[in-house]
Amino acid sequence: MGTRCSCGELHLPPRALCPSCHGTDLAWEETGGDGRLVAITRMAMVSPSMARQGFGSENPLCVGVVALTAGPRVVGQVVEIDHLTPGTAVSVDWSRSCPEAGLVFMASGAGSDLTE
Ligand SMILES: [Zn+2]
Repeated sequence: MGTRCSCGELHLPPRALCPSCHGTDLAWEETGGDGRLVAITRMAMVSPSMARQGFGSENPLCVGVVALTAGPRVVGQVVEIDHLTPGTAVSVDWSRSCPEAGLVFMASGAGSDLTE
C-alpha cells in the first residue's frame, strides 16, 4: 500500500506529507507487487545479523531496485537470480516477504508452481 497525493504523486512507503507539494490530502492506494528489475547486487560480506540468517560468501544476499508497475521504485531482496538481469519482470513473493525480510522479489510467474 502507498499513498497518493491530490497532486498526483504516489509514495511508497506511505507518507503523511507529500514531498512534492507539501500537501496533506493523501489517500491510501494499492500499488501491487509487479515491476521490472532496475539494478541488482550480490553481497558476500554481510552484517552479523544477516550471517545468522545464512547469508555470506557461500550464499550471497542479493538485493535489487525494482521499478513497480505503479511507478515508485523500491529496494528488496531478490531470490533465484541466476537468470535475472536488469529489465527482467519480477513480482513480490508474498510468502517470503515479512517485516524482518522486507520485500522479497522473484521472476514473475516463478512461484506459480509452489506447493507449500
Ligand atoms: Zn503532492
